[in-house]
Amino acid sequence: MEWKGIAAASGYAMGPAFLLKEEKVTVAKRTLKPEEVDMEVKRFDAKVQQAISELEVIKEKARQKLGDEEAEIFSAHILVLQDPEYTGAIREKIKSDAVNAEAALQEVTDNFIMIFESMDNEYMRERAADIRDVSGRVLQRLAGIEEKSLENFSEPVVLIANDLTPSDTAQLNRDKVAGFATNIGGRTSHSAIMARSMEIPAVVGLKGIVDAAKDGDYLIVDGSQGLVYINPSEELKASYHEKQKKYEARQAEFKKLKDEHSITADGHRIELVSNIGNPQDAVGAKRNGAEGIGLYRTEFLYMGRDNFPTEDEQFEAYKAVAEQFGKESPIVIRSLDIGGDKHLPYLEMPEEMNPFLGYRAIRLCLDRTDIFKVQLRAILRASVFGNVKLMYPMISSITELRQANQVLAEVKNELRVANIPFNDKMEVGMMIEIPAAAVIADQLAKEVDFFSIGTNDLIQYTMAADRMNERVSYLYQPFNPAVLRLINMVIQAAHKAGKWAGMCGEMAGNLTAIPILLGMGLDEFSMSASSVLPARALVRKLNRAELTTLAEKVLEMETAEEIKLFVEEQITAIAQIQD
Ligand code: PEP
Ligand code: MG
Repeated sequence: MEWKGIAAASGYAMGPAFLLKEEKVTVAKRTLKPEEVDMEVKRFDAKVQQAISELEVIKEKARQKLGDEEAEIFSAHILVLQDPEYTGAIREKIKSDAVNAEAALQEVTDNFIMIFESMDNEYMRERAADIRDVSGRVLQRLAGIEEKSLENFSEPVVLIANDLTPSDTAQLNRDKVAGFATNIGGRTSHSAIMARSMEIPAVVGLKGIVDAAKDGDYLIVDGSQGLVYINPSEELKASYHEKQKKYEARQAEFKKLKDEHSITADGHRIELVSNIGNPQDAVGAKRNGAEGIGLYRTEFLYMGRDNFPTEDEQFEAYKAVAEQFGKESPIVIRSLDIGGDKHLPYLEMPEEMNPFLGYRAIRLCLDRTDIFKVQLRAILRASVFGNVKLMYPMISSITELRQANQVLAEVKNELRVANIPFNDKMEVGMMIEIPAAAVIADQLAKEVDFFSIGTNDLIQYTMAADRMNERVSYLYQPFNPAVLRLINMVIQAAHKAGKWAGMCGEMAGNLTAIPILLGMGLDEFSMSASSVLPARALVRKLNRAELTTLAEKVLEMETAEEIKLFVEEQITAIAQIQD
């Protein structure tokens, strides 16, 4: 039987199912006699201490297996248990309501989880899982249930769980756990992030898989397509064994390229960098061979909280990313791109008929220079810690670009007066994601250091086709001739002015698009971390000189289908890398 979920970590896993059933603790509320209250608080504190000690051990394991940054998740868990707002509230409840620790813990935790889950931002919603994980641990210990080991399987298993907690994931041993599949979770849940870092194939969000599979069932986890099969046919098993062999051989080949340059067969060097949403992502980017960061979406720093991040908080985050990569590697920090579908609960925004055409990104920042300036100060301060570059989103006219640069000049002045160091030569670029900007790219190019083409938006605005509307997705086509011609115009305009052009929309990591973009002369390709090595493998097989002719031909073609077919026929390496 086939199950479709969310592809969380690519690769294929096969083996007997092992159901990781949560031992349900049923919490019965019990009223305490006055003389029992102190003892109950002590019992609670002892179990919290036990949980903290366990987490210290798990953290150390995670540090050894996954590195310092991943281990930080457990520092965050420990902090939850040391947070007086949380454990203090539970202690208070035991005392004030004279109830048992289990009941107090559950009530306070439910409240905390509700607050996190009601947040707009997926990342923060998924942090509710952290609190659930930590409280679950304490609850189990209160109920006398001790930790179970995930390291003693006699043969590699496929783990099935409602949700694999980060602490479960950190204890996974790749030799013992071939893959996992869970009922809940998204691509950015910790279990998914960790599965990717540990390279354990995983599918999440499979609603109902826990009830469908039994211990010992034979399972296939297709982490590349987000599919799971329970007791598949022999034929399907054989075809997956074949896929797995090929996949592993290819991964091993990719790995060899981690520290290599991104250079074509005829010696043309480009930059393969990564898109990130927070400092944690930079670790994965580095591990996957990214040569820097081509898009740091800073809005995630602003989301899922109830006030603006301070200048210092921002500075620390930007500096952390810069330091991760060292002095040379480019780190492109995009200024706040809020509005559209991204809202801040603490910033009142007007109701709009068309938010994607409304008050967002640079438009908002130019109106609210108080918000904008804090961010610019933080970015400038971080600029002395690496090769930091600033990038404005959603610029549609030269006036906006000049206004933004004016604010930047004012902020630089303020820093100068205050004797705060920054890199006065920090490169300043802009995204090209509005057709108007692409059309006047020759004018804009004179006043920026670089362009980064944001195809996610550029396609939707060019085709007047909402990037999130399935019904018009046939129009939302990166290979549409209108889109390709605009991209080409932008690259040529940049080069004519002696500037570099990059791309940070999803298209930059598309293996079929890469030869066309290389042929047009794109200098920098920014993509999700896991796309970097396949892209590098492809680039190293390509011949830049031939691609120039390929791009010229493509620019004369009339339909997206024709273009895709043509490129995939011409460049056989795409198929070799893709499957
Ligand atoms: C884009 O529009 O291509 C882009 C990279 O920005 P975002 O996806 O954040 O809108
Ligand atoms: Mg965009």
